[in-house]
Amino acid sequence: MASTESKTVHSAALTYFSMISLLTLCPPFVILLWYTMVHADGSIIQTFDYLRQHGLQGFVDIWPRPTVTAWKIIAGYAAFEAALQLLLPGKRVEGPISPAGNRPVYKANGMAAYTVTLVTYLSLWWFGIFNPTIVYDHLGEIFSALIFGSLIFCVFLYIKGHLAPSSSDSGSCGNIIIDFYWGMELYPRISKNFDIKVFTNCRFGMMSWAVLAVTYCIKQYEQNGRVADSMLVNTILMLVYVTKFFWWEAGYWNTMDIAHDRAGFYICWGCLVWVPSIYTSPGMYLVNHPVHLGTQLALFILAAGLLCIYINYDCDRQRQEFRRTNGKCLVWGKAPSKIVASYQTTSGETKTSLLLTSGWWGLSRHFHYVPEISAAFFWTVPALFNHFLPYFYVVFLTVLLLDRAKRDDDRCRSKYGKYWKLYCDKVRYRVVPGIY
Ligand code: NDP
Repeated sequence: MASTESKTVHSAALTYFSMISLLTLCPPFVILLWYTMVHADGSIIQTFDYLRQHGLQGFVDIWPRPTVTAWKIIAGYAAFEAALQLLLPGKRVEGPISPAGNRPVYKANGMAAYTVTLVTYLSLWWFGIFNPTIVYDHLGEIFSALIFGSLIFCVFLYIKGHLAPSSSDSGSCGNIIIDFYWGMELYPRISKNFDIKVFTNCRFGMMSWAVLAVTYCIKQYEQNGRVADSMLVNTILMLVYVTKFFWWEAGYWNTMDIAHDRAGFYICWGCLVWVPSIYTSPGMYLVNHPVHLGTQLALFILAAGLLCIYINYDCDRQRQEFRRTNGKCLVWGKAPSKIVASYQTTSGETKTSLLLTSGWWGLSRHFHYVPEISAAFFWTVPALFNHFLPYFYVVFLTVLLLDRAKRDDDRCRSKYGKYWKLYCDKVRYRVVPGIY
């Protein structure tokens, strides 16, 4: 069995620190963020004053207990998404060769699942069968249930990794905490066809983003009888972003989350809890803050956000098209410049990869993170600047992606050695051209 790629992630000390921080700080943060957005006017100061007056007991009092309604909503949604993942038709797609030399196979039915999900959700509302405002009204209980449920799910992943790994891309690094945190298996599956990471990352996590964006919009409509232009801009941009994600889902299966990060607490808890709660938070704020932007400003923000989403998409598309055609494509109208980089798999085989050094990938080594962060800014800015909290996601994303750029550089350096150095000499900046 191959050993865990622990050398390519952070050191043990940093892993302990981030794990303890994530375990102890993230769950209360999710609840505090929800409480502040929904019950404290989005004001951190108001929540802080409440906690100062009521202390720890006050915090325990605002933490919603997971209710039967919350569990039912989560179970219904998860079962629906799992069924769509298994049953909807889709093209057979091969993922990238794994470190142990395997090639995972997927069914590309993400766009179909996304369409069916949104059409079903809107139809349930339209025909009066299920009102999405119920989701908003039970949001705290749902997040609370997700926090505990996902933790148990990660324990299941850890046990499965030990007892019944799905492929040779699995293994222990000998440290239980690191195994639990970074994961044991790269491609865990239930039977041959149900890929767990596709479920947690795409069909549960990313899908919940779109579902909640629509929920917030409907809640504002039912509450006020209309949807403010700020909410419209926010919802459209988030939906375009998630639509882009599902349009390109097979491409996502080539990225770090799927091809390099194992299924553990870090990635799975993040997708099951952090994405639905934190990623959607600008919309959660807007429900009770129907800011009026005016047509001109709303259209300007919308256009800027759409442009950023397009550039982010085009960066990913460029790299994947370049790899798919083995470099035989045009990049910005010209033959691409490239580095042919060889590396060894964990089983000792020598393979080669192409590194693109022109187009977006010639501006900096992770330029695609710039439009990703900018797009998040544009779907948040309709909230204007009365409160900081709606901007938390933008700040968090900036930290996450700067860290990710470093992690990816470290991983690629250890994978490609001198070829990566050649790339760094040619493309000097890591993220922001001329600055970093
Ligand atoms: P990338 O798509 O950047 O993939 C990184 C991998 O691409 C590297 O590990 C390497 O893999 C390969 N690679 C690196 N440089 C080159 C090159 N010059 N030419 C060809 N291949 C190269 O990874 P991400 O997963 O970080 O990003 C994917 C998308 O997801 C982006 O749009 C990003 O913005 C988005 N994202 C969003 C997040 C969010 O929370 N909103 C979080 C993370 C990402 P190999 O081993 O194959 O060589």
